[in-house]
Amino acid sequence: MANSIVLHETREKSAKQQHPWIFSKAVFEVKGRVNSGDTVDVYSHSGEWLGRGAYSPDSQIRVRFWTFNQSQSIDHVFFLNRLQEAKSMRESLALNSNGYRLVAGESDGLPGVTIDIYDKVAVMQLLSAGADKHRDKIVSALNKLYPDYSVYERSDVAVREKEGLQQVVQHLSGDENVQHCIEENGMRLNVDILKGHKTGFYLDQRDNRYIARLLAKDKTVLNCFSYTCTFACSALAGGASHVTNIDVSQDALNLGNENILQNGHSADQFTQYKADVFTALRTYHKEQTQFDMVILDPPKFVDSKSGLNKAARGYKDINMYGIHAVKNGGILMTFSCSGLMPSDLFQKIIADAALDAGRKVQFIQFLSQSSDHPILSTYPQGHYLKGLVCRVTD
Ligand code: SAH
Repeated sequence: MANSIVLHETREKSAKQQHPWIFSKAVFEVKGRVNSGDTVDVYSHSGEWLGRGAYSPDSQIRVRFWTFNQSQSIDHVFFLNRLQEAKSMRESLALNSNGYRLVAGESDGLPGVTIDIYDKVAVMQLLSAGADKHRDKIVSALNKLYPDYSVYERSDVAVREKEGLQQVVQHLSGDENVQHCIEENGMRLNVDILKGHKTGFYLDQRDNRYIARLLAKDKTVLNCFSYTCTFACSALAGGASHVTNIDVSQDALNLGNENILQNGHSADQFTQYKADVFTALRTYHKEQTQFDMVILDPPKFVDSKSGLNKAARGYKDINMYGIHAVKNGGILMTFSCSGLMPSDLFQKIIADAALDAGRKVQFIQFLSQSSDHPILSTYPQGHYLKGLVCRVTD
């Protein structure tokens, strides 16, 4: 008999609703000799077949479902079909960029697998034991669908340790050329594939960068947590008069400098400021320095449910000072990329921050991750990036 898992009777509802994860507490029995990453069939307590997934003995997420179709084997054809579906979906989106997320993990039916495309390079991140086990099949599917592309792996993320996996960075196929440039909505933007954050770039902000561009005409912009200044490039493309970028990483600011100049803007149109945003915003408040538009795109503040309150205080602090830094009638674009931060709580935090700052805020747009980062209806956790465009008045 194939390796299998039987669930507790009281804990089978989410699997029946095709949520892609089975938590360790839901497992009643493991049948067979199952190793990390092996494929298992999952059954209800009464013996009904529910799905087929990857077993991960070291993780609280004990099984991640590959499929809810009993006739589907987890083989080369399976991965090729899933990647082909993901590719067709992206081709239908009219992204206006040659940098896009090809596979968004669970939301593309491939739990633990992230694949980003940057021009002619695919960068893959494998986060789960199941994904790691099938590396060769995934790479072979990529080679088939994108024959002349290079493939890199950037599995250097701490969450792999929860799955009993080492961190890995490697070149897997094609030319070894790590400095890349993508073209997004007419902008040329550099991507540092080996050392950049995540797989090198924040593709999830593409649509929001475009919105910043539409709002930026003739404005002075403060771009906090700028990373490689992609929001700055977009704001300048939209006619911003000046952008101040703040980040703690000098490497990111250096690449940002190149990005801005290679898009035809001049050195007097921007300022690079290596600083801690929390401190810089307090200084602006003390000096009463204000901007027409402030962008706040901080890193993830929440790693666990127990950390949510502390994170909420961090978001409120930064948004209160962010609101102080906006001129009367100006714009605040504020984001949270923490999956554990609910949208309604984020909105409430901004509302509280506005009260504390003594300013009036109107929410004029509700933002999310770009369309190449879909959210599967059975997996609401896939919605991690939230943003608000706020009009700030006295
Ligand atoms: N807006 C960017 C992505 C931001 S990622 C884009 O769309 O490309 C978050 C950035 O915040 C990183 O570059 C990191 O170096 C920076 N950062 C983290 N903590 C910081 C702090 N306290 N002050 C300033 N920058 C910080």
